[in-house]
Amino acid sequence: MAKISFEEAQSSANSNNTGIGFFSLADDGDEAIVRILHDSTDSFDIVTAHEIQIGDKRRKIDCLRTLRDPLDKCPFCNAGMKTSQRFYIHLLEYQKDENGNIVVLPRIWERSTKYATTIKNLMDEYGPLSDCVFKVRRNGAKGDLQTTYSIMFGNPNVYKEEFYPKDTSGFDDYSVVGNIVASKTVDEMKYYLLNGSFDDNTEANNTASPTGGNASNTAPWQSPNTVSSVSRPQRFY
Ligand SMILES: [Zn+2]
Repeated sequence: MAKISFEEAQSSANSNNTGIGFFSLADDGDEAIVRILHDSTDSFDIVTAHEIQIGDKRRKIDCLRTLRDPLDKCPFCNAGMKTSQRFYIHLLEYQKDENGNIVVLPRIWERSTKYATTIKNLMDEYGPLSDCVFKVRRNGAKGDLQTTYSIMFGNPNVYKEEFYPKDTSGFDDYSVVGNIVASKTVDEMKYYLLNGSFDDNTEANNTASPTGGNASNTAPWQSPNTVSSVSRPQRFY
């Protein structure tokens, strides 16, 4: 399974122009108060993508196939490029500003697909998660490959909704595909395979890297047409 860490990603970094940033906890013991915006598994945002190199940046491109489709439905699959599947958790992070007021920040927490089970288990225990507040704590120092996260239920008498509002407006019309993971057509993929870049100079070339600069545990895909990518350390946790 692909492993991509987010430690180096700045929590304030936008994933695009949507105002939705990446969720991250930088170091051991760091905590955040969050509201997970998934009430059923139907809303899970699990995306299969190809990671490609454009210049000095790595980008994720939505795979055009489902498991039942033939390989040639997606030019990148047809060219033998690997896919990785990631789970993009939608959540609200509550931070305090300098005056002690709580601000609500829409965030994407990119995790391995194993976290789909973790979140499903929380649903089974607590019901619709958007009705709950949780505290997330990082267990593991910056760079620790064994890092885990504890997700603890917040007592509603402490985390009252009037102070921790369920404001989901930041996610209106939002989808990971088209933002963190670029969406490309068959023709655009074919162009990339020939030229090692997209000719439109738009989203896939310019969107922020969702990986925080880390590689997956699969070897970076390379072709004679692409610039060789820098070898990066593998991360597992
Ligand atoms: Zn594909």
